Amino acid sequence: MSKDYYQILGISKTATADEIKKAYRKLAMKYHPDRNPDNKEAEEKFKEAASAYEVLSDEQKRRQYDQYGHNQYQQMGGGMGGHPGGMNMDDIFDSFGDIFGDIFGGQQRKRKKSGPEPMRGHDLAKEITITLKEAYLGIKKDIAYTRLVACKTCKGSGAKEGSKPSACGKCQGTGQVQFRQGFFMYAQACGTCSGQGFIISSPCGSCNGKSRIQEYTKFSVNIPAGIYDGAELRIGSKGDAGVYGGSSGDLFLKIHVLPDKKFRRVGDDLQCSVMLTYPQLVLGAQIDIENIDGTKMNVKIPKGCPVGERIVSPGKGFATMRGNVRGNLVVITQCHIPKKLPADAKKLLTEYSDIIGTNPNDSEGTIASFFKKFLG
Ligand SMILES: [Zn+2]
Ligand SMILES: [Zn+2]
Repeated sequence: MSKDYYQILGISKTATADEIKKAYRKLAMKYHPDRNPDNKEAEEKFKEAASAYEVLSDEQKRRQYDQYGHNQYQQMGGGMGGHPGGMNMDDIFDSFGDIFGDIFGGQQRKRKKSGPEPMRGHDLAKEITITLKEAYLGIKKDIAYTRLVACKTCKGSGAKEGSKPSACGKCQGTGQVQFRQGFFMYAQACGTCSGQGFIISSPCGSCNGKSRIQEYTKFSVNIPAGIYDGAELRIGSKGDAGVYGGSSGDLFLKIHVLPDKKFRRVGDDLQCSVMLTYPQLVLGAQIDIENIDGTKMNVKIPKGCPVGERIVSPGKGFATMRGNVRGNLVVITQCHIPKKLPADAKKLLTEYSDIIGTNPNDSEGTIASFFKKFLG
């Protein structure tokens, strides 16, 4: 069995972030390629320590690693987006180069550039407001926004056709120049290439050598049924294009769902209130209601239905992300109390009141009235 990451760094499973960093730093210094030139074994140890540090220094990766154990974590491909075949030297210096900072002078083994380094574009965000009905049914929405896209003239290279960016002669492509003052060596961003390490001597006319241009983008997106307020949809590669041919960022759509006058969402249920008369509640009724999507539904009000009763129509609520399961439509009963009554209705209601009396317990033959009769 191969050594696990804790053993590689020589720390305990409960090591703090600081202890992990210190342990890695110590090993990285010991096996640093500049101190062990052409030493394969040292290089392996150096890589091994970096792989361990990459996982253990990342809270989320460490949690997964602890959960799955060394072997299974490795089988999962070094944990989702890691470096499956182990890290190479460039990865290591890119990711953790700063750990050598104070000792090797901050720009140790900075890669020399012969041209611009592609960089991923920024993610963009946009807010979209939809109605509750649209959230219930799902909707296709047109999105329009301005973003940076790769310049078509130079295909994202920034250089005029037939020409190429070249390494800066002043800094030999490192982007930094060093100078000595007394005992000390200083490094400073190269003034000739503004620290870029390369020069585009004949820039593309369309993008002025920037490799990207602004463009008004329009497309439509399907917002799935059941989307909830505050949800975020990620649309891959619809953010800013990368610089000098780098990959594009993503577009994040934040969904706002407007409140509805009649309906509201509670979990995955759709709720509404229905106004009924007192006789309907007492005698029971069949009523027609219109769901949020306009479909007519027949709802049965049981006899002797209290106010605030929840009458559930299963599967008529919101679609959920869990496949075929849907929430319910919940109809909550309310009683309409008229402010004015026609004379005959008032007469009948008064007679009714006389019959049932004014003690609600008496009319229902409850235990309270039963005892009352005996104890009188
Ligand atoms: Zn261009
Ligand atoms: Zn330069």
